[in-house]
Amino acid sequence: MIARYIKAFTLWEFVKAHALTLRYFFKAKATINYPFERNPVSPRFRGEHALRRYPNGEERCIACKLCEAVCPAQAITIEAEPRDDGSRRTTRYDIDMTKCIFCGLCAEACPVDAVVEGPNYEYSTETREELIYDKAKLLDNGDRWESAIAANLAADAPYR
Ligand code: SF4
Ligand code: SF4
Repeated sequence: MIARYIKAFTLWEFVKAHALTLRYFFKAKATINYPFERNPVSPRFRGEHALRRYPNGEERCIACKLCEAVCPAQAITIEAEPRDDGSRRTTRYDIDMTKCIFCGLCAEACPVDAVVEGPNYEYSTETREELIYDKAKLLDNGDRWESAIAANLAADAPYR
């Protein structure tokens, strides 16, 4: 009697499982074929960091160190000195990406939109050392992603 009950129950579960499979077989896919397809990324997405320049090529960063002070993970290290023209610029700007918690406070604190978290999320590395970003790397990121970063900042500006 119990064996018959278990058999009927198993059969019913089998039918239910396949009905579920068939139902989802004809539905739109919930997954994408990454990396050939990509989901849209929000303008507020906090991806890989970058240091931006003005259109004339001058660095935006004025070495005020607000980002360094506000960073809760103490991931940013800045050294600075005045230039011959009296302007103040960084001589060292490092971000330890292994410490960063992607809170976005550095970008929020920056008075000149110099440091940003850009849209790039594909920056995995094989070594920890590669995740210690120096100024050259951050400026290079800024140069590479400037058009997307500027578009994202403009899209987000009405809500700030
Ligand atoms: S996103 Fe947050 S944790 Fe990362 S560097 Fe900026 S302030 Fe520091
Ligand atoms: S990135 Fe912005 S907040 Fe940080 S030192 Fe430069 S100007 Fe100041």
